Amino acid sequence: MGSIHLQNWAGNYSYQAESIHYPESLAQLQQIVRQATKIKALGTRHSFNDVADTTEALISLAKMEQPLLLDEEKNQVTIGGSMRYGELCRFLAEAGYALPNLASLPHISVAGACATGTHGSGIGNGNLATAVSAMQLITANGHQVILSRENQPQQFAGAVVSLGGLGVITSLTLDLRPTFEMRQLVYDNLPHSELAANFADIMGAAYSVSLFTNWQTDAVEQVWLKEKLADSPVETAVPTFYGATLADADRHPILAQSAEYCTRQMGVAGPWHERLPHFRLEFTPSNGEELQSEYFVPREAGFAAFQAIKPLAEQLGPHLLISEVRTIAADDLWLSPAYQQDSVAFHFTWKRDWANVQKLLPLIEEALRPFAPRPHWGKLFTLTPAAVQAQYEKLPAFRELLQQYDPSGKFRNPYLDKYIFTK
Ligand SMILES: Cc1cc2nc3c(=O)[nH]c(=O)nc-3n(C[C@H](O)[C@H](O)[C@H](O)COP(=O)(O)OP(=O)(O)OC[C@H]3O[C@@H](n4cnc5c(N)ncnc54)[C@H](O)[C@@H]3O)c2cc1C
Repeated sequence: MGSIHLQNWAGNYSYQAESIHYPESLAQLQQIVRQATKIKALGTRHSFNDVADTTEALISLAKMEQPLLLDEEKNQVTIGGSMRYGELCRFLAEAGYALPNLASLPHISVAGACATGTHGSGIGNGNLATAVSAMQLITANGHQVILSRENQPQQFAGAVVSLGGLGVITSLTLDLRPTFEMRQLVYDNLPHSELAANFADIMGAAYSVSLFTNWQTDAVEQVWLKEKLADSPVETAVPTFYGATLADADRHPILAQSAEYCTRQMGVAGPWHERLPHFRLEFTPSNGEELQSEYFVPREAGFAAFQAIKPLAEQLGPHLLISEVRTIAADDLWLSPAYQQDSVAFHFTWKRDWANVQKLLPLIEEALRPFAPRPHWGKLFTLTPAAVQAQYEKLPAFRELLQQYDPSGKFRNPYLDKYIFTK
C-alpha cells in the first residue's frame, strides 16, 4: 500500500506516490510542478495499472475551478483538466451540441481518457482523443504551453495521447457536432457462422456496434446497435439481425446482472449522451470488483482474431465476466492504439483475480501475435516492452517530444520508463 493510501477505481492498484497535491489555482499548480522532482497528474483513477502513478507526488486538479467555455462560432468547447464526461455531456446536450463518441461509462475524466487513447465503438468513429483540437498544459519548468492541431500539427499529434508524460493538462478544446438523437437495439445470440460471413457488415451496421461474448457457445450473446436517428420517422426494429433475435427487455452486458444501471435500450429514442455509454452517469456501474484488458488489431483481421481467441474459451471461462468487441477508426495520434490503422478491439472484463488473470493474458497475447496486437495503455497486459514498442513507429519521435518538454524526466514514472524508454 502506498503511503497516501489511495487506490484506483477497481481497487487492484495502490498508488505508490508519497503525497498528493490538490492545487486550487493555476499559480499554485505551477509552483508545485516547478518544485517537484517526480510528479504525475491523476484523473479519476479508472486505469487498471500504474500509468498514473509515480514515486513522489501525484497532483489532482479536482479542487481547481473547471472552465466550461462554448465557442458557438467554431463549434468547440474548452474544458478544465479534471472535467468528467458526464458533466460535460449534460452541458453540451442542453446547449444543443454533441461529442462524436463516448466510452462505456461517463464517469472518467476527459484528460485522463484522452491520455490513454480511450475509445468507444463505430467504424467511422475515432477514439475520444481525436475530438481534441487544442490543449493547454503546465510543463516541467512550470510554464504554460498551448498546443493545437492547427498551429503545431506535428507536436500536437504526439501530445494528445501522452500517458501523462508531457505535463499537467489544465484545459482541452474539443470539436463538437450538433446534438443528435439515438436509439439502442440489443439482439441476442448471433451465430458465429453469421459473424464469420458478415463481420464487416455487422460491425458497420450502426453508428456504434458492440459485441458481448463469454466465448462459451457458438454464438455471440449480445449485439448492441447504437443507431443515430435522422429527422425522418424511426423505422420499427427488425425482429432478427443476422440470425440474432431482438431482445425482449433491457440487458446488462453481463446477462446475470441487472440492466437498471445501463442506458435505455429497446429502441427508446434519447439524446446521444444517454445512449452512447453503456452505463448511466447516476449509477456506479459496478463495485469495481473487476480487472480489464484490451487488445487492438487491424480491422480487416477482425474475425480471424476472434477465431484465434475462441479456442481459449475453456481456460477463460472461470475467470471472465464478459468480453466486448468494438471498432475504432484510424487516426494520426502517435501513441493511439488505432494509429493509422482501422482497428477492432478485443476487451476482457475479468473477475478480480490477478493471480489467474496474469496467467491467461500471455495465452491471449500469443493467440493474437499474428495480428500484431496493441494493448490498451490503461488496462492490464503482459506483453514485453519490446513487443509494445514494435507497434508504434512514432515511438522515437514521442521519446524526443517528452525529452524536449521534460528534460529531467519529472513526469516520467516506472510505467513510462518500462514501456516507452526501455530500449
Ligand atoms: C469501469 C471502466 C470502464 C472503462 N471503459 C472504457 C471504455 O469503454 N473504453 C476505453 O477505451 N477504456 C475504458 N476504460 C479505461 C479508462 O478509460 C482509461 O483507463 C482512462 O485513462 C481512465 O481515465 P482517468 O481519468 O481515470 O485517468 P487516470 O487513470 O487517473 O490516468 C490515466 C492517465 O491520464 C493521465 N492524466 C489524467 N489527468 C491528466 C491531466 N489533467 N494532465 C495530464 N495527464 C493526465 C495520468 O497521468 C495517466 O497517465 C474503462 C475503465 C473502467 C474502470
